Parts: sequence; C-alpha cells; structure tokens
Amino acid sequence: MQLRSGNKCELCGAEGHLQVFEVPHSPSAGVDDCIYICDTCKTQIEDPKNMDLNHWRCLNDSMWSAVPAVQVMAWRMLNRLKSEGWPQDLLDMMYLDEDTRQWAKAGSSEKSESQIIHRDSNGNILETGDTVVLIKDLKVKGSSMIAKQGTSVRRISLDPENEKFIEGRVDGQHIVIVTDFVKKV
Ligand SMILES: [Zn+2]
Repeated sequence: MQLRSGNKCELCGAEGHLQVFEVPHSPSAGVDDCIYICDTCKTQIEDPKNMDLNHWRCLNDSMWSAVPAVQVMAWRMLNRLKSEGWPQDLLDMMYLDEDTRQWAKAGSSEKSESQIIHRDSNGNILETGDTVVLIKDLKVKGSSMIAKQGTSVRRISLDPENEKFIEGRVDGQHIVIVTDFVKKV
C-alpha cells in the first residue's frame, strides 16, 4: 500500500499523516478496496458539509489513477461537487470501466439521498409535517385550479428524490409545489 502510493495521498498528493481508507460498497473485500489518503481528504470525505472546494482540484490529477479504488473515490467526490461546474467537466472526461462505475455508483446514490435538503424561498430547511404558505399564485398542473398566494399548506411531505419539490393538500387536492414558491411558517 505505502509502496503503491509512494507515501503520498493518492487523492491530493500530500505527504505525511497518511492512512488507509476503505472505499465503501466495494464488490469484494481485500486490499484493492483501500486507498492511502491524508487527513485532509479523509475528513472532507466523511463530512460533506465541510468541503474545501479548492482542495479537490487535486482530482484533476488523481482521477487518472490506474487504481480502481482511487478512481471510485475521485468519481464520487466529483459528483458531490459537480454543481460547481468544473467537477462536471472532469466527470465528462473521466473513463471508468463497467465494474468500477457500478462500484462508484453504489456509494453515490446512497450519499445523494441522504444529502437532499428541502429549503423554502428564504433558505429555511423544510421538514415533513411543516406548514408552509404560498408566496405567489400557482397554477396547479393538470387542472384549472389556481392555488392562491397566501394559502397555507399543512403537513407537507418532501419529495425524497428532488429537493425542489414538496407535496401537500390545497382545497382537498393533493398537489406538488416547488419549494421556491413557499415560505415556512
Ligand atoms: Zn489528500
């Protein structure tokens, strides 16, 4: 392991304080599932809220590693950051063979699910059961109904796959509402 990595972090190239990190959801157990990384990388992998975007410019190099476990980790981190633009460009260039791609995705779908956070128009976090007020008139898709500005929607539920959508009842109708048009009360 140390030999393969040349005593450098396999993601960012930093030296010192390196540790073995087992890349989750690997199809088989063994040393091939592990990468050798620095504290900085490990901390940020494990705590998505404290990501230093510039640190991950290192993926520009490490995504070309010949080691599948490194490719998987690079792919996952790029996916986590892709809304920034450049990581998406790198993802587009990246090549993973089929097995490696499956492995990479095995982790990322789970991650993104737990990362979905619904926010109202003011950026407040919305939770299942909250009451919201519509901040503009909304045409309800598939009907002639208009949900009026100021209408309150009680006990909303959250779309588990899309952070922009919540659901609730207006005038007895179950409707989907875009989070940009509501305010939590
Ligand atoms: Zn590192």
